[in-house]
Amino acid sequence: MFGATGSVGQSAVDLIARDLDSYDVVALTGGRNIAKLASDAIALRANLAVTCYPDCYDELKDALSGTGIAVAAGDTAIAEAATHHVDWALSAIIGSAGLVPGMTALEHGTTLALANKESLVTAGPLLMARAKAAGATILPVDSEHSAVFQALVGEDMAAVERVIITASGGAFRDWPKDQLATATLAQASSHPNWDMGQRITIDSASMFNKAMELIETKEFFGVPSSMIEVLVHRESLIHAMVGFNDGALMAHVGPPDMRHAIGYALHWPDRKHLPVERLDLAKIGSLTFEAPDEDRYPALALARFVMETGGLAGAVFNAAKERALDGFIAGDIGFLQMSAVVAGTLDKMSSGDGLQLRDMTLDSVLEADRLARIYAGEIMKKLG
Ligand code: NAD
Ligand code: MG
Repeated sequence: MFGATGSVGQSAVDLIARDLDSYDVVALTGGRNIAKLASDAIALRANLAVTCYPDCYDELKDALSGTGIAVAAGDTAIAEAATHHVDWALSAIIGSAGLVPGMTALEHGTTLALANKESLVTAGPLLMARAKAAGATILPVDSEHSAVFQALVGEDMAAVERVIITASGGAFRDWPKDQLATATLAQASSHPNWDMGQRITIDSASMFNKAMELIETKEFFGVPSSMIEVLVHRESLIHAMVGFNDGALMAHVGPPDMRHAIGYALHWPDRKHLPVERLDLAKIGSLTFEAPDEDRYPALALARFVMETGGLAGAVFNAAKERALDGFIAGDIGFLQMSAVVAGTLDKMSSGDGLQLRDMTLDSVLEADRLARIYAGEIMKKLG
């Protein structure tokens, strides 16, 4: 389980811990929260615990001494953990750091439950091709994509006319537009419906999360930008809908609890009992829908550009977004400047030999990611 100590990772730990005798846990990975990584490795009886930070190695080794659980540290050790022959792996690392471990797991034929949307945004065609070549399965864990996946069971893709992913609108959905520039880190870090990690919560307020999910939809399901819509749905109960050529819309409805999507991927192709709330729709009464305000959320137009451009545009978009988000969290740039940084980076890297002309390889993707972070940093300096 990659990224076991994060928000998604902890939901997965919860599901596995409830039914421990059914699983043989091979490896857990995490970051600086060594106490949690160690205690979960013990609780889930894992064989191996890995932190991505080499300077945390000694602390992890001490925490697990005498348990018989092997310990490792660093990016290479995380990727190595993905070479173990296992039936199922969860990729719940945040950011493009999830790409190499995900690619490695697929190469070894592992069924990959993919929460790490950045790897699809950054290198969707590579990831999908790697899965195909290895005969490995990718199961979406992002709630919207799990919902689309479930709505498509038994259906023919040729009959699909549109895919609608819903968005809560995030923390600022009711703010006057002219106040968005003043939004603080604390204000952007609280979500109206979902309890998630800080980075994705801020991305929800800016709709960069939904922008990433548009690209994720294109890459995972192979549908063009023109067939994918975003719908603001404040209640976050319908996660996605698929529209068919006979006019039917299949909607996936469920509580905003990541344990549903994780559990679906864990038990797929079966359904098993999950400890999530059962919705009382009579009590809920009504569900609301609105078109997204593209002026309020420039990230959506940037995602359309990325989907239409293809090639390395996704890698550049994701890396610039991650860098801009670091800058917003550090207080270097304002909330609205995040989209300006991403737009400026895409613009800069679209010129010259462009984004489309280069072959997509893991090396070209990683190089585009590296350059985009440098350009985004330069743009941020000018803005700050
Ligand atoms: P998080 O920040 O809570 O946890 C991230 C995990 O990744 C932690 O275990 C951390 O130690 C690890 N990590 C961080 N940097 C790393 C690196 N460089 N190398 C290896 N490991 C590293 O994040 P999260 O909210 O759980 O999100 C995880 C992924 O799932 C993201 O891609 C996110 O977009 C996606 N996702 C999250 C939710 C949610 O409810 N939180 C919903 C849908 C999709
Ligand atoms: Mg989502």
